[in-house]
Formats: sequence, C-alpha cells, structure tokens
Amino acid sequence: MDVNSAVWTVPARAREFGFFVDGQWAEAGDRPMSERKSPAHGVAVTRTVRCTKADIDHAVRVARTAFEDRRWSGLPGGERASVLLKAAAGIRARVEELALLESLESGKPIGQAIGEIEGGANIFEYAAGAARALHGDAFNNLGDNMLGLVTREPIGVVGLITPWNFPFFILSERVPFILAAGCTIVSKPSEVTSATTLLLAEILSDAGLPAGVFNVVTGSGSEIGQALAEHADVDMISFTGSTAVGRSVLLASAGNFKKVGLELGGKNPQVVFADANLDEAADGVVFGICFNAGQCCVGGSRLVVEKSIAAEFEALVAAKMARVRIGDPLDPNTQMGAIVTAAQNATILDYIEAGKREGARLVCGGEAYPSDAGQFVRPTVFADVTREMSIASEEIFGPVLTISTFETFDEAMAIANDTIYGLAASIWTSNLDKATDAFRRIRAGRVWVNTTINNGPELPLGGFKQSGTGREAGIYGVEEYTEVKATHIALGRREPWVS
Ligand code: NAD
Repeated sequence: MDVNSAVWTVPARAREFGFFVDGQWAEAGDRPMSERKSPAHGVAVTRTVRCTKADIDHAVRVARTAFEDRRWSGLPGGERASVLLKAAAGIRARVEELALLESLESGKPIGQAIGEIEGGANIFEYAAGAARALHGDAFNNLGDNMLGLVTREPIGVVGLITPWNFPFFILSERVPFILAAGCTIVSKPSEVTSATTLLLAEILSDAGLPAGVFNVVTGSGSEIGQALAEHADVDMISFTGSTAVGRSVLLASAGNFKKVGLELGGKNPQVVFADANLDEAADGVVFGICFNAGQCCVGGSRLVVEKSIAAEFEALVAAKMARVRIGDPLDPNTQMGAIVTAAQNATILDYIEAGKREGARLVCGGEAYPSDAGQFVRPTVFADVTREMSIASEEIFGPVLTISTFETFDEAMAIANDTIYGLAASIWTSNLDKATDAFRRIRAGRVWVNTTINNGPELPLGGFKQSGTGREAGIYGVEEYTEVKATHIALGRREPWVS
C-alpha cells in the first residue's frame, strides 16, 4: 500500500491483547499486564499479558498434541501451501493495522513498517511453494534386493524466540518455513513488540491452520523465554537476538539436546575501494547505518575505506547523513525513527561518549536528537578508529558508524574479518575480480556487492562465527526444520543368517 493513502495517528487508547493457544485467544485472567509506550510518542499503545512458565508448559503440550496426531504434518504439501497462501492474503488484507502497530511499538517509520509487512506476506507466498518442493532422495543402486530411501520429516515442536527490531519481518522469515516443513510452533515474541506476532496467530487461524499448530505466549525473556529454551518436550529452538542471550539459550537447551538455530549479533563491515562509484557507495553506507536507526543486525556499522579516497568519502557520507530525515515515525516522510527503549537509547549514548573518550574523531552527530516525548539519536560518525576502541569491536545497535582505512587489499580483508562476528558484509568496487576475491575471503553469512541490506526469501540467512548457527529462509530454511531419516527396504527373499 502507499504510505500516503492513509492518515497515521496515535490511537486514543492502548490496544489490549490476550495470548493465543490451541486456535483461540486466551484471556489474561489474573496474570499481570505489560504496557508498551510508543518510543516516539511516550504514549501507551498496547497492553499484553505477562504469561507464566505454566502457560509455556500448556502451550508446549498443545503443540506436542498437534504434532503427534499429524493434523498438520500429515497433510499433503499442497494443502499446507494453500494455508500459507491464504495467510499471505490475510496479511495483505490487514497491512494498515499491522504496520501501524509495528511502527507504534518499535518506533520505526510507518513507510518502512508497511514494506516489512508486505515483505512478510511475500515470504509466506515463497514458502508455500517450498512446502510442495521439499523432497528426499532414493538410492536405486544398492542391487536388486535393496532400495535405499532418504526422507525428510518435520523436526517436531519448535520454540521460536524473536527480537524487537523487525518483529513481523523476522517472524515471517521463520514461521512459514517451519510450517512448510510440517512442524508445530510455540512463539515467544519480544516483550516490547508482541502485537503483530499475536495478530499473525489470528491470521493463520483464519487461513485454516489447524488449532494448536501456531501458539503465541507473551512475556519476559528471562522467565518464559528461558523456560521454552529449557523445555524437555521442545525439539528445536530458533532464537534470534543478541549473542549474549543466544549463549544462554544454547546452554539452556542442552537438557534434552534439542537442535538450536541461532541468529545473533553483527559488526558488519562496509568495504569501500577507491575504484567504487563513491556517490552510490556513500548512499549505501548511510542507508546501511541509518536504516531502522541502526538497530539492524546486518547494518553496516564499520566503514573500511581505501586511504587514497578516505577524506573525500568521509565528507560525502557526512553530507548525506545531514540530510537524513529524523522524526515522528508516523510522518510518511520520516526515514529514521525512534530508539526502541530508554535502555537501548542509554547504551547508544554511552558508546558515543566512549568513542569520544577513547580518542576517535567525531565527524558528525554524537548526541541525542531533541524530542519532547520520544528518544532519538542523531546519526553519528567516528573517524580515526582503531581496533582497541570499544566502538570498533562491540555491537552498538544504533546509528553509529566507525571509519578505519586501509592501503592494500589484504589489509582491507584483515580489518573486515577482525571481529568475533560474521553476519554480513558489503563490498563497493567497480572491479569484478576484486569483488569476487573479496566476497570469497570475507567470513560472513551474507555478502552484498555494490549494495547493502538486500533480502528476499530465495536466499538463506545466517551467520559465521559468533553470529550464529544454522540458516533461515530459502529451501535451506525449510530443511533446517527437518530430520533426515535413512530407510533400507529389503526386497525378495532374505539370505538366512541362522543356518
Ligand atoms: P535479546 O537477545 O535481548 O532478546 C531476544 C529475544 O530473546 C526476546 O524475545 C527476549 O525476550 C528473549 N530473551 C531474553 N532473555 C532470554 C533468555 N534468558 N532465554 C530465552 N529468551 C530470552 O535481543 P533484542 O535486544 O530483542 O534484539 C537485538 C539483538 O538481536 C541484537 O544483538 C541483534 O544483532 C540481534 N538480531 C540478530 C538478527 C539476526 O538475524 N542475526 C536479527 C535481529 C536481531
């Protein structure tokens, strides 16, 4: 939809949600509620239930029953595809409602939120095809008396834990693939951005998803997220969030050796060679760090630029940054919205102070953006950054770009790979040989050449090193949620072992 086709306002009252288990809304009862204030407006916009560990136990039991009786996994892929396509249509029919809630809870610009909701529907449409395409393998070369089959089966009950930065889009990069594989789900969204995950449950139910296949339990990560990761009857956890919490999820999951998929943090390089189209590269670098106010796991937060053009490029970046439109996320013209929470805002401002203290040269920004009601940070650039500085190595998760320079190709690759993370990287050059050499040598799960933060359901996503394990999306993303079974079928009479 066109962002200008509606007038976007903060609702007069906060919208209240129950949680969603076994195909229906569950009431809060005597459970406490969490109130979410819009980070841009300081006004309460949603109220969600603080569920308990007992609610997780119940949802896992429901998902287990739905899995074991094969109400979903036993259907032909074509029928699963049909539900996913109806869900995509259901998402498209509710874009306005979903996008407004997404923008209000997260602080992201409304135009961007619309793009993410529509992008989510597009992923459901792709995954519908994947439900039909999933297949195994056969070994017909084992002699006349034997046939070997390799089949894929859904892994079972999946616990899905998601973050606040792209609540609906990240959900959509996982849910339709998990469903395409035939699994059932207990979903635990971020406590600050639960609304669109809850609405997805209703949309899936309306699309004909059998009860109990997709359940949403809301509440705190340390309580119910932890309980889900520990749960002995969950077969797999898909976790997207910070590296620190990912580590604790991995440890919590060890009780029953459940499979764990982790999509974690990043400190992603933007490598700019002197032969690049500098104006386009600068535009990409500014977009890469300002998109979602820098709260983007694949955001390009480290500019690694060739020394011969560093001064010119720095000036280009600073000039473009000054033109980024910051402000009310509900204004269709806004490009950069609010910082999600007061805590995240304080973290970003602390890193900015650390950069100044540690001797980096402040090029632009370096402070909060004034607002009466919300929390915003000016896009900030630090130059002369060295590897010992905290801003050079730690994930800030805000609009803060560091600049370091290189003189040789090898040096560029060494700086690009000098991180515990390996989520994404961008390379800017007009030389195909150089681009190819660079994308081969960079240790990251996603690499962009002369572009940044592109996506689409066809290509898989995931990280190297401490950015995670496993892959989401693409056909890889469906296979990730399956177990592989090998079956030997003997034909004809058996050669006796006992004589
Ligand atoms: P977070 O790790 O604080 O929280 C993520 C989710 O985990 C939330 O739902 C939270 O409630 C839950 N959680 C918190 N403690 C838990 C525990 N002990 N056990 C189980 N679950 C728990 O992350 P965030 O602040 O919501 O998101 C920002 C982080 O996510 C950044 O580090 C970012 O890089 C990362 N991220 C990664 C990707 C990716 O695809 N690699 C995508 C988006 C965000």
